[in-house]
This record gives sequence, structure tokens and C-alpha cells, in this order.
Amino acid sequence: MINKIGLFGKSWILGVAILVLQGCGSTKTLVSADKASVIAKIDLINVVDDKVNVVLDPAAFVTDTVSFFIPKTVPGTYSDDNYGKYVEQFKALDYKGGELKVEKLDDNTWRIINAKDLDKIDYWVNDTYDTEVEVSEPVFSPSGTNILKGKNFMLNLHGFVGYFDELEEIPYSLEISAPDGLEPVTSLVKGVQDVNRPETDIFVANRYFEVIDNPIMYSNPSTETFQVNDIAVTLSVYSPNGHYTAASLKAGMEKMMRGQKAFLGDINSTKHYTIILYLSNMDDNDAKGFGALEHHTSTVVVMPEQISKERLEEAIFDTVAHEFFHIVTPLTVHSNEIQYFDFNDPKMSMHLWMYEGTTEYFANLFQIQQGLISDEDFYERLMEKVERSKTYDDSMSFTLMSKNILEEPYKANYANVYEKGALINMALDINLRELSGGEKGVLWLMKELSKKYGNTKPFEDGKLIDEIVAMTYPQIEEFFKTHVAGETPIDYAVYWNKVGLQTTEQEQSTGYFFDGEVPYIDVDPSNDNAIFVREGIQLNSFFKGLGAKGGDIIKSVDGKMTNLVNIRLLIGQSMNWDPDKEIVLVVQRGDDEVTLTGKVGEPTLDVVKLVPMEGASEQQIKLREAWLRG
Ligand SMILES: [Zn+2]
Repeated sequence: MINKIGLFGKSWILGVAILVLQGCGSTKTLVSADKASVIAKIDLINVVDDKVNVVLDPAAFVTDTVSFFIPKTVPGTYSDDNYGKYVEQFKALDYKGGELKVEKLDDNTWRIINAKDLDKIDYWVNDTYDTEVEVSEPVFSPSGTNILKGKNFMLNLHGFVGYFDELEEIPYSLEISAPDGLEPVTSLVKGVQDVNRPETDIFVANRYFEVIDNPIMYSNPSTETFQVNDIAVTLSVYSPNGHYTAASLKAGMEKMMRGQKAFLGDINSTKHYTIILYLSNMDDNDAKGFGALEHHTSTVVVMPEQISKERLEEAIFDTVAHEFFHIVTPLTVHSNEIQYFDFNDPKMSMHLWMYEGTTEYFANLFQIQQGLISDEDFYERLMEKVERSKTYDDSMSFTLMSKNILEEPYKANYANVYEKGALINMALDINLRELSGGEKGVLWLMKELSKKYGNTKPFEDGKLIDEIVAMTYPQIEEFFKTHVAGETPIDYAVYWNKVGLQTTEQEQSTGYFFDGEVPYIDVDPSNDNAIFVREGIQLNSFFKGLGAKGGDIIKSVDGKMTNLVNIRLLIGQSMNWDPDKEIVLVVQRGDDEVTLTGKVGEPTLDVVKLVPMEGASEQQIKLREAWLRG
């Protein structure tokens, strides 16, 4: 998955107000449903109180009791989300329609007594998008569920359909009744349509994993298809206010995916891929977790609807690139822990440096290799990753963190898999290129690993690094020991030097409250819309000069109380400020009120840039070319 929180932050209230609004089913094989042993009926027509009824009809049981589970977690999210919390009015019914005794063991587990008499179970499901603002750790929207009667249903099926103990491997048949006008978009295989029930779509899955590996979105979608070599791609967009269509995003998406396919070569054999793009209108009840979750033949992407086309495109192209590269890892190259994923008692693998790190690194590297971005853009992306990685614990063992990612203090460092995780791969890539005289890099390594392992052939978690060393060079062992398993931060300058690059500090002009589209301040809806200075980012000379600190709540400016209306006005006025203007900011810092005064000045930001070294040797330049375009 990838969480684009770094891109949008919580700044949407402010962001949306300030940005100018822009004018604003894939191929399926028919398979008989006969062999299905669990029939899951989902009723999207008769939605009651924002809930959807689900009926599961399994084959007969021979045991006295049976447990029924809704997943606690699903692959790719690396968090415990307890989807069972969204299930209500759970009933187990016998063949005469009577209720069987059920014991609820935890949020996600129901034990049915007298299972031999069990005919079916019946329950109602609430959606997660509605609850994102209410709970402290909301389900990440791309793995969440949406129930918007008559308009949109985001069926991340792990939120709707569960499994019976030890029956994860049996086939499922899904019978989904949907209102007129709503169409499903999914990579799931369609079953034989029942002519007497035209409102019911039938889908089949060989096992439970396939059910949850294939989300379905029902809406009145805007859909386009295109071909990337031998991959048929479906792009489907739900845009509640009609700001975006699949047609408007198709050309850019196609260009990007062609680049990805050219980069990967024959490494992947996917024949179809579905991109489900859900655009949120940012209401209280709508999705706010921006990013995406990967699946074998599809991805769900969630983004805000009210952003400029340029920004949306940049965000979705980066996001889809990342998710598509997940086909390499962990969807192809992965350990036992992932192959035999336990949805209710997951064992984590040590290799997030690869599952997320390599994926994120490739999502950037292919763009430079394929000429989609300039060298400068690529260097800037690397420096942003270095900056952001510093907000996490740089001396935390990456393998230890990965193994324990569901627990603190590791959990709080999760997002570093996209920052340092990618940089580990950059360093490894340069290492491999140097040792092989420019010939081999991380892409070569992943190709070798995917020849050896595949969809159904996992590696042993504890042996991967030894294996990589055996496939490459003895020096690589030291690198993994020191910087991946070990706690020594990577000195990136060492690697940049190898390819004739160096860092240099430069002053860049910014706005007072925004650096481009990225704000220095933010709004806290949980604290009466208090306006505060953002934390964990580098502040410009305006805020630094006044002595402001990240987390300061701005109470007043020049004697005027700060609120959402005033701050927007102030941001507008600041465009015309004279550098000599004196300003008085009263901020709340912890329990103290602090008055900050000074001249507004001409706001600048110190940025560290990665640039080609003057007088770099031929060898350095040759290695750089091999790294960037090899
Ligand atoms: Zn990911």
C-alpha cells in the first residue's frame, strides 16, 4: 500500500479552500458457480440505516461447533483494523429458520454452537468511511468500505464476507444484488448469470484469499480501458461531483504504465489490471485516507476530488506506479508469512525494506529510467525522502521493525518504509552497480528472485538475506548486517559520491504560509478548528525569524483572533505584504501563551539539493548513468 499522508497531510480544509477548483468492467471468463461451497449474498438494494445485509450459506458442517471470522487484518495494510467491529445483528440460523446459540469471542470471531444444524448466517455491515472521523485509528480508506445508498459501494470484501474456521481454501460464490444503474468494477471473475435474477451479479473465487484480493466498486462509473503490451487495463473513476472522468486521466495513466512495463520487461505476467479510483468529496462521512492498496490484478486508489488536475495526476500516477510494482513484491516474491497469511493472527515478515522499500524505489527509478522525469526531479525526490526519513528513528533495525510492525515503538515508524525503505534500495542499487561494473542492480536482483520464487512459492523469511548475498557479492552481507538488520544509519553521501553527486544548501523563496501548494500551517478539526504551525517539516524564514515552533497554535495575528475565515483572508493579504511590515503573532505553546514579533521579511526556505559534482571522474559519471538509465 502507500499512504499519501505526506502529500496532503491534514491540510485539506485549508488546501481545498485555497486551491482553485478545476472545472470542475474488465474482461472476464465465465466459470460455473456449481463447485462453490460458500455462497455469500450481499444486498445493495435494500440498504437500511446505512447498513448492508449479508447472508452466508456454507455447506453442511460435521463438527459440533464452528468459528466464523471476519479479518482482523489483511495483507498490505500492516495494521490491525478489526473489520469485525463493523458487523452487527449477527445470527446463525438452522434449517427451520430458528436461531442457534452464538458466542462472540472477540471483535472478529463468532463461535456457533450446534454447527451441524447450521443452515446460514445473517448479519448487517456498517461502512468504515462513515467512522473515519470518530475513531482514533481509522481504517485506511483504500482498504475500507463505503455504503452510500444508490450511489457508491466500495466493497473491500474482507469488510463484508468472512470465512469459517479451516475453510479458507474452499471456493466462494458471491451473489450481489445491486440497484439499477450501478455497475460493478472489479478483476473478480464473473459466474453464470441467473436469467431470473437480472439484478444479481454472480462472481466466483477459488478460495477466500481471492475474495479479498479482488475489491469491487459499485457506482455509476466513468470507465476506460487500454492495452499496455499484453496487459488489458481498466481505469474506473468515481467522482461524486463529476470533476474527473476516466477519459481525462487515461492518457497520462497509459503513458506511465507503458513506462513501467518497459522497465520491468518480462518480469510480470499479469494479463489484466483494474484501477479503481475513488474520489472523496471530503464530507465528514467520506474517505480521508489518501493512497492505495495493492492486489494481484487490481488496486483501490482514494484521493480528494477537489484538487487541481496537475496535483491529482501527480498523486495518482505515483500511487498507481507503486501499487503496480507490488506485483513484483510482495505479490510475487514473498515469504511464508505472506503466502499463508493468517487474517486473524498474522505473523509479520522481516522484509518490509523489500515489499514496500523496493516497490517505492522502483516507482521513482522507472520514471528517470524511462525519461518521464528529469535528473533534477529524481534527485529532488531522493532528498525529500532523506528529509522525511529523519522524522523517524534512523537507528531502528529495519528487519526488527518489520517483524514487529503491529506493535509500538515499531508501528509509529511504519511510514519510514516509503522513505528510508526506498533509500536502502538506492544504496543497495548503487552498491550492486559498482560491484558489477555497472551491469547489475536491484531490478536485476528482483528478476532473479522472481525466477526462483513466485505466486505459490514463498521464501523462508530468515534466509532471504543470505540468499541475496549468495546471488551477489560478499560485500552485500556487510551492507545488510550494518544498515538493514543493524542499527547504523546510512551515510548517503558515501553512495552519492560513488556516482559523482553531492549535496549543496540553497536558499529558495517561498510564500509566507505556503511553499507552493504545501502549507506551513494546518487546521485541527478535533480542537475547534484551531490553526497551528505544522510539525515535522522545515519552516521558512518567516516563521523561523519570528521564533515560531511546530505545534504552536496561532491565537491571534496583529490583535485579530485567528479562525478559519480570518486566516484565509490573511493568506490572501500576505501576497502583498511589504517585507518591512511588522507583525505580532500570539501563539499557544503547551500551556503558555507566547507573543512573537518581528518583520515579515522576504520568506525563504533553506533547501539541501543533490547536484552533480564538479569535476566528477569519468568512472563516477559512468556509474551514475548505469544507475539511472541502465
Ligand atoms: Zn505499498
